[in-house]
Amino acid sequence: MYDVIIIGAGPAGLTAGLYAGRARLNTLILEKVMAGGQMVLTATVENFPGFPGGIKTAELIERLVKQVNDLQVNIGNKEIKQVVKTDNFVIVDSDLKEYYSRAVIIATGALPKKLGISGEDKLAGRGVSYCAVCDGPLFKEKDIAVVGGGDRAAEEAIFLSRFAKGIKLIHRRDSLRATKILQERLKQNKKITVVWDAVVTEITGANKVEAVKIKNVKNKEESVTKCDGVFIAIGVLPNTGFLNDFVKVDDGGYIITDENLMTSCEGAFACGDCRKRPLLQIITACAEGALAAFSADKYLENHK
Ligand code: NAP
Repeated sequence: MYDVIIIGAGPAGLTAGLYAGRARLNTLILEKVMAGGQMVLTATVENFPGFPGGIKTAELIERLVKQVNDLQVNIGNKEIKQVVKTDNFVIVDSDLKEYYSRAVIIATGALPKKLGISGEDKLAGRGVSYCAVCDGPLFKEKDIAVVGGGDRAAEEAIFLSRFAKGIKLIHRRDSLRATKILQERLKQNKKITVVWDAVVTEITGANKVEAVKIKNVKNKEESVTKCDGVFIAIGVLPNTGFLNDFVKVDDGGYIITDENLMTSCEGAFACGDCRKRPLLQIITACAEGALAAFSADKYLENHK
């Protein structure tokens, strides 16, 4: 029986592991893919305090994992399919193995949103990607479309410009949501052209991406842009579907908590991108991870 099981090893889950380990709670972290969560989608983290000039994301993740492991907190590579509360919590993985804990912290983050257009699923992995850091090097000297106008789309376009011949950043409005410093870099980058007021209506290609169909939302004009890759960065959705009715979620699927990050189920806490918050950043995810572990510790003290 663990004191606490943390589901998810992104910045929120890892920081929860760090604080739970330091509170000497018997802690296990279970992660579906690999440690880092959405951090792995970014090459360099520039806005984490204490790292002027930024830190390579892989190094930041490695440091976080070491810091957690040094406290005898292990990270298991398991996909969780169900969480149930009896006297304690029963957490079931995809092999139907059960894990038991007295408290649980849900830190399952969010997944990239899909455009939901023709060609997107068919050509996924054949030119359609949601991760420039993972797939960018495959597009050396190629033409690429990036869809979105937020931080991620801007970062992906800038990162891809290391490899690509040319990049069209296609955005549905006439101004970007991305942070100003990223907008400045986009403007200075000669490989990147912003296509304003435009939506991608179809991704075409027989066996791999060959072009995108674009529609101008103001004058309704349609056009075709040839490209070898389409990187979609239009926001995220909380990864909470597997919880079913275990805890209350809002209309968008985000877990509802109180100010101490306790969910509707006593002893179950949530932190990071699976919970709605105004600023989705590594630092705010870490802050919530710390608070979730602190609250879990207090809960366990009161429920011996
Ligand atoms: P985001 O900030 O929610 O931006 C999504 C962008 O995609 C918006 O520009 C939006 O357009 C557009 N969009 C949404 N749905 C669309 C659709 N169906 N078709 C076309 N365009 C669509 O999401 P994000 O950029 O993926 O970032 C996610 C979160 O992570 C954000 O909170 C972001 O700040 C954070 N993040 C931070 C950093 C960093 O600090 N360095 C890096 C990456 C991500 P509208 O503008 O018209 O709504």
